[in-house]
Amino acid sequence: MKYNRVLVWFRNDLRVSDNETLSKAIQLGKEIIPVYVLDPRQFDTMEIGLPKTGKFRAQFLLESIKDLRESFQELGGELLILQGKPEEALADLASKATADAIFFSKEVTSEERKVEAALEKAAFAMGIPTESFWQSTLYHKDDLPFPVGQTPEVFTHFRKEVEKLSKVRRIYPSPSRINYAKDVDISSGDIPTLKELGLEEPKPESKSWMKVKGGERSAFGRLQSYFWEKDLLKSYKETRNGLIGMDYSSKFSPWLALGCISPRTIFEEVKKYERQRKKNNSTYWLIFELIWRDYFRFIAQKHGDKIFHVEGIKNQVDSWRRDRSQFEAWVEGKTGVPFIDANMRELKATGFMSNRGRQLVASFLVNDLGIDWTWGASYFESQLIDYDVCSNWGNWMYVGGVGNDPRENRYFNILRQAKNYDPNGDYVRIWIPELAAVPGFSIHQPWELYSKQLRELKIQLGHTYPQPLVRISSLERA
Ligand SMILES: Cc1cc2nc3c(=O)[nH]c(=O)nc-3n(C[C@H](O)[C@H](O)[C@H](O)COP(=O)(O)OP(=O)(O)OC[C@H]3O[C@@H](n4cnc5c(N)ncnc54)[C@H](O)[C@@H]3O)c2cc1C
Repeated sequence: MKYNRVLVWFRNDLRVSDNETLSKAIQLGKEIIPVYVLDPRQFDTMEIGLPKTGKFRAQFLLESIKDLRESFQELGGELLILQGKPEEALADLASKATADAIFFSKEVTSEERKVEAALEKAAFAMGIPTESFWQSTLYHKDDLPFPVGQTPEVFTHFRKEVEKLSKVRRIYPSPSRINYAKDVDISSGDIPTLKELGLEEPKPESKSWMKVKGGERSAFGRLQSYFWEKDLLKSYKETRNGLIGMDYSSKFSPWLALGCISPRTIFEEVKKYERQRKKNNSTYWLIFELIWRDYFRFIAQKHGDKIFHVEGIKNQVDSWRRDRSQFEAWVEGKTGVPFIDANMRELKATGFMSNRGRQLVASFLVNDLGIDWTWGASYFESQLIDYDVCSNWGNWMYVGGVGNDPRENRYFNILRQAKNYDPNGDYVRIWIPELAAVPGFSIHQPWELYSKQLRELKIQLGHTYPQPLVRISSLERA
């Protein structure tokens, strides 16, 4: 034992299994005090006037904290919940609780790293050592075949090198008990309500299939159901571009984003599935997607704040439009382009959108409307239940053409995409009820219908449903 009492600060690692920070604290400290700090800066308003953490993700976060607290209670301990700036709240707690070390998981982007640095400084001034651990990726940073600063810019190069030269580390097992510092006379703290965080409760949305609850237990429940009960992993590659329902893709993203489950745990479960059920392209493809996630994280670390700048890592000249009313039409799902609007309405109503949808709506905003890609990324940051700073800003840079995509133009032809992914218009019909009467593929181009047909369908385009913001010809561009 190296320490008497270790504060374990939980961040985006809200789990007890495969948690190196927690495992090392248990190993090196006689007693531990787990703590989560709700930082008011996470609930600020962004430059574009939206909450930094919207109601869907905030609710998922509160559920995840509750679940973690219950896990600690079952292990004979408690999760303290504090509110305030972590660098101040933790230093204060360390002093009151006579902790002699603070452990936490490392983050990669500047806001989070500034908090780490401020905490380290405060702890140093108090003579308290801090130890931090790399947690969030499938491949550990120290196992990459290159220094992070030399992460290949092209995804395929990155993937091939890590697949050939790095190994995924084994997971840390869940602790069976903890030595919780019981004599600490500090209130364990209540989990705030959404209202106390200045947010409204999400309205129940009958059309939503995104039935997810925050926390490690539900993450494991989804893993169990997707892999073993429903046996869906073996067809993941064929279904992953779907749009409707809970099961076309894994939906692991909200849990991964808050660290309720680790990518290594998913990796080990894929390997088990391959041994016990089936090994094919689909089982590999889920790992392939987790490597994308790693890639954006290492790219974010390599390029620092450039990933948030409108010029991106390519230093492109800023020639974006900043048309507020068109941006709002995009946000509200009122651009007059049904496939775009359906996706944007799903996001607004549920906090989720498929990967196919995200690529399409992002391409539409930047390529068809020419609007500043950082506005789109900021809206996603506020609204997504699975917002992950590196995956979100990295993907947006990619689509915005200011990132590391070797292709010059990532333009998505919306009608062609609609033909491939929603040929009968079933998806659009769910989210745009005002067009529900339009049959088959015509729902993607209601403006092509003759006025007589429209009258029969009782649809008055421009009134019941807006005229498209961009000329149809541009949608038909190759
Ligand atoms: C503009 C844009 C913004 C995005 N913002 C986010 C975000 O904030 N948070 C987020 O987790 N993903 C983001 N993605 C990636 C992807 O859309 C989601 O990870 C995926 O839709 C989540 O659903 P799933 O868990 O069912 O994915 P699955 O298809 O089941 O994939 C499994 C996991 O692989 C990872 N993954 C899959 N695709 C990607 C990708 N393109 N980039 C990085 N990781 C990936 C995710 O962790 C995902 O949970 C974004 C994509 C785009 C185009």
